[in-house]
Amino acid sequence: MPFDLANANANANANANANANGTVATAADVFKADIGIADVRIAQIGGTMEGAGRRIDASGRYVLPGGIDSHVHIAQASGPGIVMADDFDSATRAAAFGGNTTVMPFCLRERGTSLAAAFRDYRALADGASHTDPGFHLNFTDPTPQVLGQERPALIAEENRLVKVLMTYEAMRMDDAGILATTDVARRHGAKVMVHCENEDVIAFLSERAAGADDVAPRAHATTRPVAAEREATHRALTLAEVVDVPIVIVHVSNGTAIDQIARAPARGLDITAETCPQYLVLQADDLSRDNWEGAKYVCSPPPRDAAEQENCWRGPRSNLFDLFSSDHCPFRYEDVQGKRNPAGLRSFRHIRNGIPRIETRLPILVSEGVMKGRIDLPRFVALTATNNAKTCGMYPRKGTIAIGPDADIAIWNPEIRRTIRHADLHDAADYTPYEGLEVAGWPETVILRGTPVIGDGRLVAKAAGREVPRLG
Ligand SMILES: [Zn+2]
Repeated sequence: MPFDLANANANANANANANANGTVATAADVFKADIGIADVRIAQIGGTMEGAGRRIDASGRYVLPGGIDSHVHIAQASGPGIVMADDFDSATRAAAFGGNTTVMPFCLRERGTSLAAAFRDYRALADGASHTDPGFHLNFTDPTPQVLGQERPALIAEENRLVKVLMTYEAMRMDDAGILATTDVARRHGAKVMVHCENEDVIAFLSERAAGADDVAPRAHATTRPVAAEREATHRALTLAEVVDVPIVIVHVSNGTAIDQIARAPARGLDITAETCPQYLVLQADDLSRDNWEGAKYVCSPPPRDAAEQENCWRGPRSNLFDLFSSDHCPFRYEDVQGKRNPAGLRSFRHIRNGIPRIETRLPILVSEGVMKGRIDLPRFVALTATNNAKTCGMYPRKGTIAIGPDADIAIWNPEIRRTIRHADLHDAADYTPYEGLEVAGWPETVILRGTPVIGDGRLVAKAAGREVPRLG
C-alpha cells in the first residue's frame, strides 16, 4: 500500500530520504533514483522528496535491499557442553554491520522433547535482543507418531513454511523412512523441506577408519566427508522429494557433482531451490591442515573442497541454477574449552565443534568476489542474498526488495571501500574469522531496518528493535 509524504512529515524522526544520487538495485533492475521512506515502509521512488525529515546522501553508493541471511545458527542447543559463541544480540549486531536486516536461525531441540516448547523458548531468546528482524526455521529430528501426527502439523500451519531435516550427525539425522514421513507432512501442510545432504554411514565408516589409523588431526574432518558422500545424499534427497512431490531446498552445496544432480532435477518436475555459501567460494580443504591445530577453525560441514570445486561452485550463483547465497553462520570460539579447542577436540577431529563464524562477511565477500570481479551483476547479487531468500521463506514482497510498499530495509554500500578482513574489526562473539587477511572491495556503511537506521557511518546507532517477520506462505 503506498504511503504519502504527509505521513512522512507527521513522523519526522522515523523518516529518511534514504538516497540522493545513489545507484539502486533490485533483483530485476539497476537505476538511479531517490527513495522516500515514511514510517516503516518505502513510500516513494523518484521525484521530489518534499518534507523529508532527514536526508542521507548516497552519491556514489549502491542502495540495495537489506540482506536476508536465510541460514544461520544462533544460540542453538547442539548438545551437552556445546556452547555457541553468539547469542541473538551479538549475532544480529554482526549481521547488521554486514548489511543484513533479516536473519533466519533454526530452532533445534533434542529428540523426545516438545518441539512446541522448544520453539517458544527459542523465540524468547530473540525478544528485545535482535538488531535485525528474525524469522525462524524448525529443525525436525524425530519422526515419531506423536510429532508427525500433531506437533509438526500444528507448528507448520501456525508458524512456519519451511522445515529442515538432516541426513548427517548421529544425534539428529533422519533415515529415508523418516524423511519420507516428514516430507509427506510438510507437503500436506504446504511447507517446503530444507535438507542437509551428506551420507552419515559413509562418514561414520571413514571416521572409524581414520581413527583406527590414528589420523585424528582437523584435516581428517574433510577427508571423512568426501564429495561422494554429499553427491549421493543430494541425489537421494532429490529422489525422496520427487516421490513425495514436495518442494525441496538443498542447502550449502559444496561441489560440482552435487550441482550436476541439482541441474538435472527440474527436468523431472522437481520444485528445487539450491544454496551455496561463502566458505565454498573462498576456503579450501587445505585450510584444515594449518599448523598447531588451527585447521580446527575451518571445520564445517560439508567441508570446503579444492580450487576446482570453488570454481564449480560459482556455476550455481552465475547461472541461475542456485537461488540462495547464505552464510550458514555457526560460531564457536577457538581458544575456549567449550569451543574448537575443547579437550576431546584436541584429541580427535571427531570432537571439534562443527561450524564457523561468517554472518558479517557473507555479503562483503559476494560483493567483492562476485560483483567487483564481474562474475555476477548487482541484480543477481540482490536476488541471491535478499529477494530469493524472502520468496523461499514466505516473506516476499514485504522483505527482500526495493519497491513502494515493502518494509524500508535498505543497505547503502560504498563500493570504494577496500578492507582487509580482520576479526578485530568484526562484531560477532567468536574470537576468530576464517577469512582473516582476505582483501575485499565494498562494504556497507548505512543499514536501515524498517525505516530506522541501525548502522550509520559504520557505527551501531539504534537499540535492538528486531521483530519477528510474519510468514506469508
Ligand atoms: Zn547450517
